[in-house]
Amino acid sequence: IYESIPDMFEKTAAKFSGRPAFHNLGHTQSYAEVERLSRNFAAYLQGLPGMRKGDRVAVMSPNLLQYPVALFGILRAGMVLVNVNPLYTGRELEHQLKDSGAKAIVIVENFASVLEQVIERTQVEHVVTTQVGDMLPVPKRWIVNFVAKKVKKMVPAWRIEGAVSFRNALDDGASKEFRAVEMASEDVALLQYTGGTTGVSKGAMLTHRNILANLAQTGVWISESFEEGAEIVVAPLPLYHIFCLTSTLSFMRWGSLSVLISNPRDLPGLVKELGQWKFSVMTGVNTLFNALLHAPGFESVDFGALKVVVGGGAAVQKSVSERWKATTGTYISEAYGLTESSPGLCGNLLETPWNGSVGYPLPSTEVSIRDADFNELPVWTGEGDIEAHTGEVCARGPQVMVGYWNNAEETANTLRDGWLKTGDVGHMDEEGRVTITDRKKDMIVRSGFNVYPAEIEEVIAAHPGVLECGVVGVPDEKSGETVRAVIVKKEPGLTKEDIIEHCRANLTGYKIPQDVLFRDELPKTPVGKILRRKLRDM
Ligand code: ATP
Repeated sequence: IYESIPDMFEKTAAKFSGRPAFHNLGHTQSYAEVERLSRNFAAYLQGLPGMRKGDRVAVMSPNLLQYPVALFGILRAGMVLVNVNPLYTGRELEHQLKDSGAKAIVIVENFASVLEQVIERTQVEHVVTTQVGDMLPVPKRWIVNFVAKKVKKMVPAWRIEGAVSFRNALDDGASKEFRAVEMASEDVALLQYTGGTTGVSKGAMLTHRNILANLAQTGVWISESFEEGAEIVVAPLPLYHIFCLTSTLSFMRWGSLSVLISNPRDLPGLVKELGQWKFSVMTGVNTLFNALLHAPGFESVDFGALKVVVGGGAAVQKSVSERWKATTGTYISEAYGLTESSPGLCGNLLETPWNGSVGYPLPSTEVSIRDADFNELPVWTGEGDIEAHTGEVCARGPQVMVGYWNNAEETANTLRDGWLKTGDVGHMDEEGRVTITDRKKDMIVRSGFNVYPAEIEEVIAAHPGVLECGVVGVPDEKSGETVRAVIVKKEPGLTKEDIIEHCRANLTGYKIPQDVLFRDELPKTPVGKILRRKLRDM
């Protein structure tokens, strides 16, 4: 139905113009306001010397009202958005800026000192800085900016020649004419860098068509539950991650209000925010659902309007899913995808209890399980050795990226004969439901047996004394690799022996961890995925 993301956005904004679109830090922006401000920002970008259609513009920001303005402004100017994780160090930021060749960046002031260290070695010519409260009315803006500086122990000093404030950029754009850009659906919209849980971060080239296809594919499944102009969505995951970005764009098509959460690690703040809304939709990852279930006050939140909860990004554990349903009355619908596929590939239908699978391939999506020689493996009928039906999950469909930016080698390794090799291991059942066993790279090979960390994590997490757990393989002379579990306790008295005994009752011998470590917390990505490589280094 739409030519490009700006086309979708402009039509949606016209249809729902007076409706609230985004809420953050106590302030709401209507669709009409986001349209006006993003048009101004697009005009500003178009007026910058040397900036042309297809140029990359980086955004380094947590969830703030500035984010959608920048996002739609960049895309309406015909430029390519490069999302940057705001917690990146100078080294990581430098890699992403150099690799993408971004000529401009929008950055929250609190991180500008990191940019200052590296900017000389990048192609960035235009810097727009913003303060946390920039989109709020005065005097609220002053209060919020003052508090943000205090919280960050004052914004680290920075000096970047020629940097322009976001507010000035918007004013400048308002005085200029916005020129609508001819866009083809095959034009690249996002250079979306992979999260880097497994190694060097690569830029997936996602076109307007890729994203729009995924909105349509996921939309089919939720459309019956959604009412135009009536849904309130809580978005606790960062918009710079593809899961939250695509789902937010998808919900916008119904004129939904998205409540943006700037810091999901502030659990009391998140619980308070949830308590203020008759929210009907929520997206999240397993670690966040688990943390909320343990957060004081969460049980007292009014879940009366809640009807759609989508969990993805990592396996949703049975124990978490069941407790979530018991507490909120709504099932977590587990979905599966990756940056390279915009991200949605598979999903469980709404109102489906936890079943260990990630559901069915989305409409117009094919999934094929391949062995090491890329031969298709038969579906699992429930009989024989499941390992003979287990291989790499490959997928094709209109949401699959066109390749990695400037990286023909990795593109060739990942896209084969039109199939996206996901790097995940799994199988498909007779009904077409897909189960992800684990990631290829995370699989542990112990004395020749394949051990999947996700299965062991699932078992350990179900122990009542465990808050959360991550499992990895560590090199071992005798057996190749041994199994290590790193655990955060819920009950202080929990011992290694308790864990081993619990594993013995639920797992065969070679899967039982030899190494059990207790820690106060687990290293995670900003989306909340457990960083297994850091567990290996412990
Ligand atoms: P990198 O690709 O650099 O390692 P990342 O993991 O953050 O970083 P994403 O594209 O965000 O990159 O994550 C995609 C991966 O997340 C999938 O390949 C899969 O391993 C995992 N994943 C997503 N959804 C699920 C799910 N429902 N169950 C199990 N794993 C999932």
